Amino acid sequence: MNDFPVISFADLQINPWIIRQCAAIGVKTPTSIQANCIPQILNGNDCIGAAKTGSGKTLAFALPIIQKLCEDPYGIFALILTPTRELAYQIADQFAVVGKVMNLKHCVIVGGMDMVTQGQELTKKPHIVVATPGRLADHLQSCNTFSLARIKYLVLDEADRLLGGHFDEQIKTIFQALPKKRQNLFFSATITDTLEKLKVVTGKEVFFYEAPAEV
Ligand code: ADP
Ligand code: MG
Repeated sequence: MNDFPVISFADLQINPWIIRQCAAIGVKTPTSIQANCIPQILNGNDCIGAAKTGSGKTLAFALPIIQKLCEDPYGIFALILTPTRELAYQIADQFAVVGKVMNLKHCVIVGGMDMVTQGQELTKKPHIVVATPGRLADHLQSCNTFSLARIKYLVLDEADRLLGGHFDEQIKTIFQALPKKRQNLFFSATITDTLEKLKVVTGKEVFFYEAPAEV
């Protein structure tokens, strides 16, 4: 018999309309990473979360970001960096599905598409920008028609792949364009030394959660 109480999205203080959107796509009970990280993110804490692929890391950051966005929808609200185009589109899809009823505007900034159209999208002040580091760094260096200065959330998805490798220069360019005061959310399938160091990099206490291997 399982004596553990089942935690619901309502227990995590997620708004009813978001819970309805989730239920419509078959997301009814939080996964372990969601149950542990969502309350921390809603509380304003930086967060490092690790759980294996397929454990729902995207909604662990997307749900609290969408909820906070409703309270203060001004300018580009959140920047999500991820290593590949495919992941960028998958993340954007999850934001689009849950944010549909609030008219959430997002844009995907990845290589392989023309810079001009992308630049125009950025200028329209989307709420959420999902990007690969290389292309976003190109935009920051080539035009000044948009600003990341009002970003409230920086998410590094697959953070272990983004840090301490060939993305370093691009990530540095992007970080320079971000406000110092922001919430940092780092998600990864595995905990690496680089990820451990992030606890220090952010300069403040970071909530750290690693899902048990069997979850
Ligand atoms: P990860 O980033 O951890 O590899 P994803 O966030 O891409 O995983 O989620 C994998 C799939 O699981 C997605 O299709 C997503 O819609 C689904 N999912 C996420 N959270 C839940 C949940 N609480 N219940 C059911 N399915 C979920
Ligand atoms: Mg993922």
